[in-house]
Amino acid sequence: MVKKYDKEKEHKRYLRKKAKNPERYKALNYECVKRYRKKNRDKVRAQGREYAKRKPKKTLTEKEKAKKVEWVQKWQRKNREKTRAQGKLRYAVKIGKIKKPENCEVCNKVTKLEGHHRDYKKPLEVIWVCRACHAYTHRLKDKELRERKIFSFKSSAKG
Ligand SMILES: [Zn+2]
Ligand SMILES: [Zn+2]
Repeated sequence: MVKKYDKEKEHKRYLRKKAKNPERYKALNYECVKRYRKKNRDKVRAQGREYAKRKPKKTLTEKEKAKKVEWVQKWQRKNREKTRAQGKLRYAVKIGKIKKPENCEVCNKVTKLEGHHRDYKKPLEVIWVCRACHAYTHRLKDKELRERKIFSFKSSAKG
């Protein structure tokens, strides 16, 4: 098994180099991963989905649950405006002031929709998009969204 030996040696050499200059290797590796992900976005995403499917669902322990709650609360404190807007929107939907459509406003798919805010100061002005399109809208700049006519922002509020 000469080949295996060589491979190991090679790897050890790599580790030695890395130990000498960890920051540089970290940065290099990060850049490389970032570039790969950008180039193979769909592939990476598909892999992620596969992984999520294969992975058995983990039940959280009480301690982990508490930690999660704490994390959410911390996030909400940090993103107060966003949280408030989401709360107001949820309430408006609940009392029927806002009608949540069936179809995603971008891809027209009938699925569970999320309200996307362009401006959190206007909590009831949203477009309803599916999860995938929501992530997509967040990646695009406002100008691009307008150009692609993704943002119609026809107010769906009654009265
Ligand atoms: Zn969609
Ligand atoms: Zn959004």
